[in-house]
Amino acid sequence: MWAQAERSSDILLSKHKAKSLGLDADMMVRTKANPTLLRNARVIDVLDGEHLARASVVIEGDRITSLGRGNDVSVPEGAVSVDLEGMTIIPGLIDSHLHLWGLNSDRVIDELLMVPDGVRLIRTTQRLHRLLEAGYTTVKDCGGINALQIKRAIAEGTIEGPRVIAAGYFLSQTFGHGDFFHFLPMEMVDARRTRGGSNLTCDGVAECSKAARYALREGADFIKISTSGGVMSERDRSEHVQFTSEEVRAMVRVAQNAGTFVTAHCHSAEGMHMSVDAGVHTIDHALYPDPEVIEKAKKKEVVFVSTLSIMKRYNEGGVAAGYPEWAVRKSRMAWEKAIANIRAIYNSGALLAAGTDFLDSPLMQMGTNALELELLVEFCGLSPLDALRAGTFNGAKACGLGERIGALRTGMTADIVVCKKDPLKDIRYLQKPDMVRMVLKEGRTVLNRGPAPKPV
Ligand SMILES: [Zn+2]
Repeated sequence: MWAQAERSSDILLSKHKAKSLGLDADMMVRTKANPTLLRNARVIDVLDGEHLARASVVIEGDRITSLGRGNDVSVPEGAVSVDLEGMTIIPGLIDSHLHLWGLNSDRVIDELLMVPDGVRLIRTTQRLHRLLEAGYTTVKDCGGINALQIKRAIAEGTIEGPRVIAAGYFLSQTFGHGDFFHFLPMEMVDARRTRGGSNLTCDGVAECSKAARYALREGADFIKISTSGGVMSERDRSEHVQFTSEEVRAMVRVAQNAGTFVTAHCHSAEGMHMSVDAGVHTIDHALYPDPEVIEKAKKKEVVFVSTLSIMKRYNEGGVAAGYPEWAVRKSRMAWEKAIANIRAIYNSGALLAAGTDFLDSPLMQMGTNALELELLVEFCGLSPLDALRAGTFNGAKACGLGERIGALRTGMTADIVVCKKDPLKDIRYLQKPDMVRMVLKEGRTVLNRGPAPKPV
């Protein structure tokens, strides 16, 4: 089946994988909630841009089972009703690129090396509520072993948090972007033999295949690779190409054979051509694409993931926070081109999803992730609706969950956010601390600051 999936957006995580994330999960032990009727709200359809005024949404189990204007919905026996007069309903937000690293300072390398993994893991679990409070019901963690533990604890209901789609490991060539600890001896930089990092260093088809299989063995939902240099790697440049096309094809093959996909960190046009030709599903960051690769990616429905937020934070507060001077310099140099190129991707009609690349540190705290939507509107020409689509429906595609979440449609998983004000009037509303009044994830209310439910 996978060999026949010609278009990248056909790529969906297998049913088995989705179940391990809590989706369609009949094996989870949870108290069954009453059916819920959310009524009297403005409902935003991110697919066709239609607003339903004074509309109702019915949720039974983990699904949206009815949706319509006024009371034009079928309400099951025993339902509770919530009157959302004046409020707006949007799909649960999705951050398509972040890292749940549990950092207490922005001296990232020091923290990764010196704070035990378990301590950082506990810190992250204490902060997950911030994502839910900001309306994020799904996040894609693009490298970091914390996420492998957290996603399981959330999916089984032990802790509350957004659904986590986890790479766990980050596959990088020797002298590649993931080789953060290049100052250590070679035998100490690979996550299979050291602590603190998530880098798997691999060179050649055999090693790359093996590293991809190792990531899957440890619980990865998808494979994260680096096909160019980057901002946070001292010695390479974003324009450099990393891995060879044979190596990328091998890793894509391993992923597809296991019912999943590859996400590529990539800035350079040449690296993007190689990645798209090899069949990767998403191109993340995408600072320097050329028009040809944007067209090629669009045809194959590859998803581009913007991560302007990390650059904005580096550029404005990176030096004071303790980031290396070279990283801030690289980021500042790239900003103008980055926004022009994300704008070009958007204008081409290629799929664009919103990430932040936030590292779960003081400068890049979870909960302010809707900054990316603001930046897409302010700098890249997206309408608020298109930005919201990048942070919901297109994000679902980037996560391989495109048919299950990311829109408010009958039959889809009920990941729902109730906002005090309409974010299409001002996308910055989504960053205000009291804006999100209610969050449902898989049909369960995981945050409720709104009106109390009453029997129908
Ligand atoms: Zn990243």
